[in-house]
Amino acid sequence: MKNNNRSQDESETNNLKNNQTTSDEKQHASLITADQDPGGDYIVRATALDNTVRAFACRTSLTCREATRIHNLSPVAATALGRLMSGLLMMAHDLKGDQESVSALIKSNGPLQGMTAVATGAGTVRGFVNQPVVETTYARPGKLDIGAAVGEGTLRVIRDGGLKEPYIGQVNLLSGEIAEDLAGYFYQSEQIPTVVSLGVLLDKNGIQHAGGLMVQLMPDAGDDIAAYLENRAAGFPELTFLLQEGFNPQQLIDLFIGDPNMTCHSLKSCGYACTCSRERMIRNLTALGVIEMKELADDPDGIELNCHFCSKTYQFAQSEIRNLLTAMQDR
Ligand SMILES: [Zn+2]
Repeated sequence: MKNNNRSQDESETNNLKNNQTTSDEKQHASLITADQDPGGDYIVRATALDNTVRAFACRTSLTCREATRIHNLSPVAATALGRLMSGLLMMAHDLKGDQESVSALIKSNGPLQGMTAVATGAGTVRGFVNQPVVETTYARPGKLDIGAAVGEGTLRVIRDGGLKEPYIGQVNLLSGEIAEDLAGYFYQSEQIPTVVSLGVLLDKNGIQHAGGLMVQLMPDAGDDIAAYLENRAAGFPELTFLLQEGFNPQQLIDLFIGDPNMTCHSLKSCGYACTCSRERMIRNLTALGVIEMKELADDPDGIELNCHFCSKTYQFAQSEIRNLLTAMQDR
């Protein structure tokens, strides 16, 4: 089985190389062409096959590098969080502004001890791994064992549309490899057949390439389209290979779907950004309640709060805590 898959991958790979310079430019007139690539990290959305399929793809190399720098992530943690953040950025692409978001909480029993990420409609993402430094283990030579590092557990997805009640779905992790788990979430919780492919490539200097691809069947897609996509997925090369070969997001979608009439609808730049502020920290403090605040107010040194997402620290003097407590008690 494994050998079979590998040979499929290789033939697909060879085809790719032969076609790359000859047919690409002509075939994809409707695409954002290579010279329109704005550079840096971004997400695109496309529809294809007579609107029966929609697809998203992203390049997230800088975003993942920033997360790795902020949290000092070990290679396995950087890869796991990078995959999750890339997936969420695509899931949040259709949302509006930074008031609307998609969050993912993974609770699991592997060495990483779970992780959290939040992406907004503004193209920002933030996240953290509960245990950022773990041993590097390989599933096979050159391939980090992310599934083992994540372990068994649950994936909870929270879609927060701003004013509306958030939509929450929870599923069991399928493999801990993240892409498969997000696909499982879509299938079980939102009833949308979805192909998810996520890739983070590291070498000794850190993250070289990162990105993702997500292809979804629209409700009116027939069985023939479903079978077609299944076939494409089975023969699709590893995403890290394609990123290394220099494929940009729209080229990834195009390669997967193979529809010359595909249309790219939108392109949004993305990056790592935290939304924390002193005001938010005060809200978190007051949410603790009067009893806990009384205890904090006893400390003559005041307190220091640390943002999980960006490691920024916020100092509160004892007098400030006392004032907050008084305001709470007056309410
Ligand atoms: Zn922060």
